[in-house]
Amino acid sequence: MSTPVEKRNETLGKALVAKLETRHFEAYYCPTAKEAIEKALSLVPEKSSVSWGGSMSIRDMGLTKAFHDGNFEVIDRDLAKSPEEMGDLHRQALLTDYFITSTNAISKDGILVNIDGTGNRVAALCFGPKNVIVICGINKVAPDLDCAVARARNVAAPINAFRFMGKTPCVSTGSCHNCTSPDCICSQVVITRTSRPEKRIKVILVGEELGY
Ligand code: SF4
Repeated sequence: MSTPVEKRNETLGKALVAKLETRHFEAYYCPTAKEAIEKALSLVPEKSSVSWGGSMSIRDMGLTKAFHDGNFEVIDRDLAKSPEEMGDLHRQALLTDYFITSTNAISKDGILVNIDGTGNRVAALCFGPKNVIVICGINKVAPDLDCAVARARNVAAPINAFRFMGKTPCVSTGSCHNCTSPDCICSQVVITRTSRPEKRIKVILVGEELGY
């Protein structure tokens, strides 16, 4: 028997799937992170090359480990031993069959919003890998595009800034100051309105809180 929260999340998730499909994304709703892992693995043929961005969601839910454990050619930037190697792996990731990422926010009508410092993650989202799989917790759904941008800039970005502890104003106050500091992690703000080619971007909505 589903709880009211589970029912609401499923109703919202399925409505969002329909909106994403009108924007030419492939889209799925999974009630749990465990089911989302199974769905993601089912979308990727064995022996495909796979890589990912710096998303905490896909690590915390166990998806990156699942790809390591499977029969895939994994390019994992987390294994880089130097900034130079990290840069090389970022470039190699742009030529993979599948790139896995989360999104910083998504509007109720199916627009993705992502912020990036280096730009490797949003570059892969825009062009390069043959397929992109986006994992999105239900906590990242915003009422409209303005709210999605506000969420990405005022919630996701400052929390990410604490991960890297650079000298940015948000690390002093916990909120965004629209900075241009050398350590700014918000160099790129990318709005993805549609998937082109059709179904290149596959969005898996998860009916649980994932990431921030
Ligand atoms: S203060 Fe700078 S680094 Fe921090 S969230 Fe705002 S733009 Fe990004």
